[in-house]
Order: sequence, then structure tokens, then C-alpha cells
Amino acid sequence: MSKIAIIGAGDVGTTIAFTVQLRGLVTEIVLVDTNRELVQGQVMDLTHGLFFVRPIHIYAGDYADCTDADVIVITAGTRQKAGESRLQLINRNAQLCKLIVDKIEPHSTKGIFLIVTNPVDIMTRVVIEHSGLSKHRIIGSGTVLDSARFRYFLSRNCQVDTRNIHAYVIGEHGDSEVVLWSQVHIGGTPLDIFCKQCAVACNSMVNREKIAEAVKHSAYHIIEAKGATYYGISLAVRRILEAIIRDEHSVLTVSTWLSGQYGLSDICLSVPCIINRKGVAQIIETPLNKGEETSLARSAELLKNAHREML
Ligand code: NAD
Repeated sequence: MSKIAIIGAGDVGTTIAFTVQLRGLVTEIVLVDTNRELVQGQVMDLTHGLFFVRPIHIYAGDYADCTDADVIVITAGTRQKAGESRLQLINRNAQLCKLIVDKIEPHSTKGIFLIVTNPVDIMTRVVIEHSGLSKHRIIGSGTVLDSARFRYFLSRNCQVDTRNIHAYVIGEHGDSEVVLWSQVHIGGTPLDIFCKQCAVACNSMVNREKIAEAVKHSAYHIIEAKGATYYGISLAVRRILEAIIRDEHSVLTVSTWLSGQYGLSDICLSVPCIINRKGVAQIIETPLNKGEETSLARSAELLKNAHREML
């Protein structure tokens, strides 16, 4: 028996419920949204497909229904409009996250908090500071999606299955994120060595710039084209949920509280972490080259400033 609670039954929250329902990952999903009509409609739509999936109880509930959830996923909040950065959402969504934490009464819960609302690094920090819960229990979806995008673009460029590529994006889930070229491995082979053997005709250095740009600007392109992003993030969130609920000890670049790792403290941003039933079991300090170190420090500084300027 496992249960997730999803706060916010908009595009992201409902698509997460749908992807989890398809996988049969849990036996119960509660959706909570201030828009009662919307959440009722979403639940009807999801439950009418129950004949086709494993038995699962999906219902519209209230904050009290979060108490026994294994994971509480927060997706409520304003999303970016075309051309708007994630950091521009900060004040509206920070107030909302605090209000949601108060309503949930976090000390009466047993589960992990998984924050998706943007700007996700700042919201993760807000929930940690406002709830007072152990920091390992509060995770931001961070750059799990960005790392997946990085692998996708590498896969297309190098013509290798995404699943045979190891590659990470760390730092802010946003404009200052850091694409870790020094850590890319294809079939266990460091990228520079792989490139020397590769038969694909590509200008690898020029393409690296293009790939990094594509990773960083993906969300802007999608929002410009269709108004919102929700499929990719929902699969990324499902992957994090799997790691938690199935106690997988998986390495994922979630947003987490740093206390000295990478020379950074009192900040949430994404780095590779081992994720299990307890949340963040361990932060991995992967070696960075000088340029990556500087970029990560810059990303952290930017997030600290944004947090400081919050109303
Ligand atoms: P949406 O507008 O479709 O849904 C937001 C929902 O939150 C609405 O249904 C609204 O009624 C609900 N809501 C507002 N206040 C609430 C409250 N107090 N309690 C419960 N529900 C409440 O937006 P969306 O596209 O689903 O995006 C949601 C958030 O997720 C945004 O902040 C967006 O930027 C973020 N997002 C994050 C990522 C990521 O990678 N972390 C990716 C995509 C979207």
C-alpha cells in the first residue's frame, strides 16, 4: 500500500497523476486543489480509465488527506508566461507554498515533500525553512528533467540510446544551470574518448554549445509553442517518486539543501543525490573542472540573491 498526495491539479499535477496511474506505482492518489470544480473534473477523467490499469484509488481530497501519504507533491502555483523566467514567479509562489505548508501541518505527516512549483530551488528552500522538517525529507524536482533533456540531445547527436548515456545538469533549475560536460559518459566511456572513435560526422565542440543552449532553453521554446510544459516534468517526477517509494537508492539530480558540499551552504540547488525511502540519503560530491566550479558558484550566488530579495 502506498499513497501520494498531489497539491495542485493543474496541468503538471494531473499529468503526474496520470503517469503514476499508468505505471501502477501506488495504490492511492489524492488530488488537492482550491479549484474544486477543476479537481472533480480531473478525478472523473482519470478514474474513467481505471478499467485499463492496475487497481488504484484516485480521489479529490483535502489537506488532511496528506497525513498518511508517502510523498506529498507540491505543484500548486503560478506558471511562467511566454518570455518570463522562473525566478519572476518567486514572490507569488513563495507565499502560496508557505500557506500550503501551514495547511498540511507538516509535523503530523510521515512522508517526503517533493516540490515542483517554480522557481523550484527557492520553493524547496522556502518549504524547508517554513516547515522546520528534516532537510533530507524535502526534495525539489530540480534538474532531473534538465539532465534528461541533456541525455536526449546527446542521444540524438551521437546516435546512441539515451539509456546508455550518463550526463548531468546541476545548479539552478533555470537560466544559470550548469551542463557538466566533464562527466558525460557514453557506454562507460568518457565523451572525449568516445568522440575520437565515433563515426558520426559532427563538429563536436560546436555541437556542445548548441546542445547546452537547447537544454537551457527547452522550457522557453515549449512555453512559446504551447503555453506550458507538463509531459517531461511529469515523467521526471514519476522517476523521483519511484526512487522514493521503491526505496531504489537511485542517483538523481534533485534540488537539496547544501551544508558545505561543493563549498556551498544554506542553499538549495541540484547536485547528484542518492534517493531512497527516506528522501535524500546522500549527496554525491562529483569532481568538477574549474569552469564548472565557477559556474556552479555563480548559479548559487544568483539563487542566494533571488532569495534575499524575496518580499
Ligand atoms: P496550472 O495553472 O495548470 O496549475 C496550478 C494549479 O494550482 C491550479 O489548478 C490552481 O487552482 C492550483 N492552486 C493554486 N493555489 C492552490 C492552493 N493554495 N492549493 C491547492 N492548489 C492550488 O499550472 P501548471 O502548469 O500545473 O504548473 C504548476 C507549477 O509547476 C508552476 O509553478 C510551474 O512553473 C511549475 N512547473 C515546474 C516544472 C519543473 O521542472 N520544476 C516544470 C513545469 C512546471
